[in-house]
Order: sequence, then C-alpha cells, then structure tokens
Amino acid sequence: MMDIEFTIQQGKLYMLQCRVGKRTAFAAIKIAVDMVGDKFISEKEALTRIEPDQLNQLLRPIFDVKEKDAAVKSGRLLAKGLNAGPGAATGRIVFNAVDAEAWKNRGEKVILTRIETSPEDIKGMDASEGILTARGGMTSHAALVARQMGKVCVAGCDELIINYAKHTMSVKGKVLNEGDWISLDGTTGQVIEGKIQTKPSEVLQVLVGKTLDAKDAPVYQTFAKVMQWADKYRTLKIRTNADQPDQAANAIAFGAEGIGLCRTEHMFFGEGKIGPMREMILADTLEQRKAALAKLLPLQRADFAGIFEAMHGKPVTIRTIDPPLHEFVPHEEKEQRALALAMKISYEKVKERVEGLHEFNPMLGFRGCRLGIIFPEITEMQARAIFEAAADTQKKGIAVEPEVMIPLVGNVKELVNQEKLVRKVAEAVMKEKGVKFKYLVGTMIEIPRGAITADEIAAVAEFFSFGTNDLTQTTLGVSRDDAARFLIPYVEKEMYAKDPFEVLDRGGVGKLMKIAVEKGRAARPGIKLGICGEHGGDPSSIEFCHLIGLNYVSCSPFRVPIARLAAARAALLNPAEPAKKVAKKVNKKAKTSRKK
Ligand code: PEP
Ligand code: MG
Repeated sequence: MMDIEFTIQQGKLYMLQCRVGKRTAFAAIKIAVDMVGDKFISEKEALTRIEPDQLNQLLRPIFDVKEKDAAVKSGRLLAKGLNAGPGAATGRIVFNAVDAEAWKNRGEKVILTRIETSPEDIKGMDASEGILTARGGMTSHAALVARQMGKVCVAGCDELIINYAKHTMSVKGKVLNEGDWISLDGTTGQVIEGKIQTKPSEVLQVLVGKTLDAKDAPVYQTFAKVMQWADKYRTLKIRTNADQPDQAANAIAFGAEGIGLCRTEHMFFGEGKIGPMREMILADTLEQRKAALAKLLPLQRADFAGIFEAMHGKPVTIRTIDPPLHEFVPHEEKEQRALALAMKISYEKVKERVEGLHEFNPMLGFRGCRLGIIFPEITEMQARAIFEAAADTQKKGIAVEPEVMIPLVGNVKELVNQEKLVRKVAEAVMKEKGVKFKYLVGTMIEIPRGAITADEIAAVAEFFSFGTNDLTQTTLGVSRDDAARFLIPYVEKEMYAKDPFEVLDRGGVGKLMKIAVEKGRAARPGIKLGICGEHGGDPSSIEFCHLIGLNYVSCSPFRVPIARLAAARAALLNPAEPAKKVAKKVNKKAKTSRKK
C-alpha cells in the first residue's frame, strides 16, 4: 500500500512523492494476505512486506465488550477522536512525558494526555498504556509514533480542553484531573471515563486464553496464515526462554519448538520457594548446604516434570543455577530475621554472611559454573532433579529430551568438571529408575574466552547456546545493570547505532559469535548451535543468527511469532547464503582441516 502524491498541471501528470503507506499491523497483514489471495503477489513477497515487530500490535489487549458497552450506555463516553493506534488501554491521566515515566516506574498504568506530542515525548509515550491528543490527524506525530510503537492512540480529539498548568482536562463541562482513570479504544477512537477491564487480543484469546474459537476470530485466521507461510520458508528453529510450565504452554501455543533456556534460579521466585534457595547460598558449612539442597530437590524435580510434560518431547535446555548473588540474598532486616529462623541461626550470623558475600562486581563475581565448581553438591542436586523428572515423565509415556547447559564457561576445564558430575548423576538415576533416556550436555558461550576457545570447548560440549546478554556485557565492557545512564545518550551520539543489549552488535559481539560457530563446528561438525540472550527475539539479530548458520533462536514466549516471521524474512531476503549452505560450507571446511 503506497501513499502517492501527484499533481496534474496543464494536462501533464507529475508524480511528486511515493512512499510505503503507514498502516496498522492488522492492515499490513490483511493487505498482504488479501493480495496473495488475489494473486497479485506470492506468499514469499507477502512475508517480506510485514515487519516482524508489527505483530506486537496483534498481540495487544482489547476491552471486555460488555463492560465497555455498559460504560458507553451509562454516559461515560467523553469524546471521540481519530482511531490512530488500535487496541484497548486503560490508565490514569498524566499530562507530560516526565510524569508518565515517573508514574510508570512506581507501578502505575498511565494514559499520556497531550494537546499534541513532539519527539521530546517519546519516552513518556513508551511508558504509557495509551496516548490521547487534542490536536493532530492520522499522520500527526502522536499517531505515527504510536502506531510504530504498537501503542493504543486516540488523536485529534478536539473536544478536549487540556490545561497543562492546572493539570486538568475538560470535556462537555466535565473536569478530569491528573490521576483520574480513563479508557481509550484505539480501534474506534472512543475516549471513555473510568477504568474498563481489558482482555487479551483476539490472537491471545484463541492461542493463550482458549476463550475464543479460531473460526470466530478473523484477525487470528489472518495471523495464522502468515505464521503458516513463515514456517514454510524459515530455516531457523524457534525456541523459547521459559522457566514455568504455563510459560512453556504459552510459547508452544505461539509456535515454539522447544525451550532454549530454562533459568533454574528463576524457578525460586515464587511464593515460599526463595527461602531454601537463600539458605543454600548463605550456608556456612557443607551440612547446612546439603540440608538446604535436600529441600530444593523435590521442588526442582516437580518444576522440571511440569516443564517436560508441557513440552511433550520437545527439547528442553535447562541451565544449571546462575544466580547473580546480589539478586538473591536478602538485604532487609525483616527478611534476614525470617531466614535466620528458618536456618536456625542468629540474625547477626545471617547479616554477617550477607555482608561476607558482598561483591563489587556481582555480574563478574561468584556466579555461573563457578558456583557448581566450588560447591559440586549444587550441580549434583540439580542434575538429579532434572534426570529424576525426566525418568518419571518418560515412565508416564511422555517423551523427554533434556539438554543440560553449563553457564559462564570460559575455559574447557570448567566444562569438563561440571560435565563429569552431570553424566555421573545421569548414569546413577537411569540405574536407580531402571530407564534409559537420551540427554545432551552443553554450554553457554557468553564470555569472550569461551568464544575464542570454542574448538576446545566443543570437544566436550554437545551444544552451544550464545548468551548474548553476558557476551555483550563482557565484550563491550559495559555493565548490564548500570548501562542505562549512558547508553541512551551514547546511542543519540551515534557511538552505537542501537542499544547493543537490544540489537546485536554485529561488528564486535557478532564477530566473536562467528568465530565460535566456525571453531565449534570444526571441532564437532554436528554441534547444535543456538542463542538464548534477549537478542533471540530481535528481528535484526535473528537475521544475523540466520546468516552465521545457527540452528535455532530462543526468545520470550510472546515474541515467538515475531521470531518466526523474522526467521522467514531472513531466509527470503538473504537467498545467496541460506543458513544450510553456510553450515555445509563450514562443515566441509572443518572436515578438510581435520584431514590435514
Ligand atoms: C545471557 O547472558 O545472554 C543469558 C541468556 O543468561 P542471563 O541473562 O541469565 O545471564
Ligand atoms: Mg548469562
């Protein structure tokens, strides 16, 4: 769909400007799918016309219809503007971008209400559930930016009188103040007083909530067709990062083909589970640690069994514990006292232990495989929980495919140490339970030394998964936790084209990945290669993963559809070097070099 500006002057047609028309995600998908139906374009071309990130908009909430109708009938409809950004949003009125960000940071849902917006409002728009403006049309700043962000937006609602100084908005004689609730229907342009419950998108209702039948959901049907085409043309597999059975189930509904990262330490964020985990971290003696591990074993085993069952034979990569200690130890006196009680030691002792564990650089400190190497009983417990759950699940007639992943390996010796422990436990569990199951042991490549020595590591690892969050942190020497302060101005000053934690830095981190892929495949031609850092859900980074010949990307469940489309586009837009060819070439090279 194009915007075309032309003029006819003295009988002559002049084309002034042509550009791809701005449209909502659903419009983009519908236009592409309809054009395939009308035989104007091919499926492949249709896929290249839909930006993967646009799918976000189809995965946005809608209003509870009954509640919205009741609100309108009871006179709560305040005004109608332009339906500039589809979806439903409900939140509290704020009148400027700074407040929007501040309120969001304290956990409030906000609607940014402006006479009109400008580029200074971007961060506030991003922090808001929806954007409401009194001025501007369908191509106004608010409308364009909101659509691109996938935000709900009602623009050009000229009945509104907005008073920035008084922090009020008046409409039809009614005065609303900062903090009052309003709701926006970005699909119809309605502005409604008060809070209205939002429901998941049609796609979410069919796939996640299972509250809507696919045959009654035209938006879903169009989405499903695009996904079906994407799957036909992509060569990358799509996995998900999930730590809970419900997350795994959601991801499968979105088309995930396995779990690429199960962060075992995240399994303890739930109510009542963090205690034993903290006891384990703070244990002073082997006995104390073993006592805490004994509490953790059944909890982990049950969690793993739940995940294996949800995944029904699809591969599940489970990472041994990798807790940046500062995220897990209790800092508040109340929590420290509770822990002291559970551990049957004094509060002072707990306090002392927490202080003793203080690290100046926790991200580069006592985490990852270092923990399991110093305290092997932790890895043993986790391996036992994984394999016992695998054996029990298999006995129920459900196939299992566990892949045990060792984090933060920079030196093959670290991996050898942990691999031996894991394999010993696997053999023991198979004997005890009288079953045989297949499993893999592999590692994350997330520090530069690991990438550079990938050939040595691949001699032991059956798979690599690139942990590009840490690989970015350690390659760039930029702290994941502290970067925010300078990264945005850095990007503005074009020091980086994009935030490197969001979009993979191909020139640095990417080069290391390429080295690791080549060295890894040279040492072990059949090695399975994936990515599980946040970049696994970013379309540009997914393209790079395709280009260097990874087997899969792994991303958060709600990004799986985006990754499916991005992977298909990567394959279609880079026909010269499809992933399989690159992999073949690398393998061939590997074989010849081994012969030599
Ligand atoms: C990574 O470092 O990319 C990764 C996936 O692990 P985590 O984010 O848990 O450190
Ligand atoms: Mg990591």
